[in-house]
Amino acid sequence: MTDILQLLVDELTGFLGIHHWMEMFRSGDYQSLLTWKGIQGALSPLIPLLLLIELIRGSLYRNFKVENYKLPFLTYIFNRFVSRYLSISAVAYCIALFEEHALLKTTLTWYWFLYGYVVWELAHFVYHYLGHKVRLLWCLHATHHAPEDMNLSVTYAHFFLEAPYADVIRTTICLLLGVNPPLLFLIMFIDGTWGSFIHVGENLLKDGRLGFLNGILLTPSHHRVHHAKNPLYMDTNFCNLLPIWDKAFGTLQTEEKELPIEYGISRQIRRGHFGDAYFGEFYALFNDIRRAPGLKNKLLYVVMPPGWSHTGDHKTAKVVRHNYRQQATGEPVAQVS
Ligand SMILES: [Zn+2]
Ligand SMILES: [Zn+2]
Repeated sequence: MTDILQLLVDELTGFLGIHHWMEMFRSGDYQSLLTWKGIQGALSPLIPLLLLIELIRGSLYRNFKVENYKLPFLTYIFNRFVSRYLSISAVAYCIALFEEHALLKTTLTWYWFLYGYVVWELAHFVYHYLGHKVRLLWCLHATHHAPEDMNLSVTYAHFFLEAPYADVIRTTICLLLGVNPPLLFLIMFIDGTWGSFIHVGENLLKDGRLGFLNGILLTPSHHRVHHAKNPLYMDTNFCNLLPIWDKAFGTLQTEEKELPIEYGISRQIRRGHFGDAYFGEFYALFNDIRRAPGLKNKLLYVVMPPGWSHTGDHKTAKVVRHNYRQQATGEPVAQVS
């Protein structure tokens, strides 16, 4: 019994990220705050703390709904369970493989930091874009899009294999383009913290635009749009902190006041059903492959965007968005593929 209690306490302190603070309080030694590792450790309770405030505010204003937090919570628990038996450190593996093949050498200076960040955003864009446009990779990413509400717990809702896949793509591109490991870790820390923050819910931050920053950064408002299933919003805003590549590739979409966001994915999922949110896309892909005639069609289902159909009746984000725009402007709907 005490073992189970100890496990729960360990899990909770681990989730809250307060190990570093507890250690400092115990020893009375705050010197580590002057080191990079110490700063990271000290900042790690930031997002869990914001999540707690979000939950408390939600219950104070009586708009806290258990189902809004249920899927991310169950996903987090399931992933913790899986990770007990599986440890995939893709980043270390990539560094060992690709660092020596870098096209140029960088150092820890401000200009290489800026260069590194632009490269990192590109690498993130590539991973995230593929996660939405290749059906098999969408199966890994869809778990993150399944929740039908936006709040900080969504930041913990990911399929367990998504992080290793994302890290392989992102770190490989960065290392080959010369971003050195210390610079990469610094950027990953900033990216991770901001990437969590942009999931802040309306309970904590009603207007996610952050004022004038909406024109410069990728704000919670942009990421809310990214999590929407409205035709106009689908498959937009793939960047994380700097929306430069969304601007470059024409995938930037601002939140329209007259078009309220509907969170979730376009496939009908059983509300609050963990198994459907976690494995449902794999099941749907498996069924499509099984039904498709011929080997070519079966393979195309794996690599084509979600919504692609061997019958030619595509429901991809591109088609849905195109049709919506034509209807909105009153023009006749033409077929796109
Ligand atoms: Zn996404
Ligand atoms: Zn997200």
